[in-house]
Amino acid sequence: MPLNRYSRRHKRTFGKKKPEPKVFLEEHRVPPKPTSYYTKMKGRCRFCGILIRKKDGKTNTRRSWHKECIDEYTYIYHPSETRKRLYKRDKGQCASCGIIKPRKSKIFKERWHVDHIKPLWEQKGKRFKEIDLGYWREDNLQTLCTQCHSTKTSKEATLRAKLKKESDETTNTKNNT
Ligand SMILES: [Zn+2]
Ligand SMILES: [Zn+2]
Repeated sequence: MPLNRYSRRHKRTFGKKKPEPKVFLEEHRVPPKPTSYYTKMKGRCRFCGILIRKKDGKTNTRRSWHKECIDEYTYIYHPSETRKRLYKRDKGQCASCGIIKPRKSKIFKERWHVDHIKPLWEQKGKRFKEIDLGYWREDNLQTLCTQCHSTKTSKEATLRAKLKKESDETTNTKNNT
C-alpha cells in the first residue's frame, strides 16, 4: 500500500530523523526500529536490510522497501492500521466472551482493544535483534472487549508481580552468598 506523500504517516516514515529508543519500552507499544531503517541505503530495504533485486537480479536502487516488508512494517508500527486489519478479521467480536463491539465508539465500555495474546512486557528492554516480532504479528493478536481486557491485564499484573518478587529473591540470595 503506497503512502500518500503529504500524509502525516509519510512524514513520520520518511521525514527527519528523531532520536528513538534502542530498546523496547512498553509504553511505546511498538518495537524499536532496525538500524537499516535509519541508514537508508538506496537499493537496500529499510526494514529487513536485504538488497532489493529486480527481475534480472540487479539491485533496484530506486526502491528502499520490499513490498512485503512495507506491509509487515505498517502492521507492526502503525497501531491504527493494526486496529483496522484486526477489525476486518474479527469483526469486533471479543475473543473471550464473544460479545460484538462497534468499530468505533465514544463510550469507553463499548470499545474494543487490540490484545497481544503473549503480552508485550515479555519483550521489554530488548533490542531489535533480540526482539521476537511474532509478538506483533497477526496470530498473536486478538480482539477483546473492555471488560475482558481489564480482566486479562490484572491477571497478568499479578503474575508480573510474582515473577518480579522471585527474581528479586534470587538476586538477593546471590548477593548474600
Ligand atoms: Zn525487506
Ligand atoms: Zn469480552
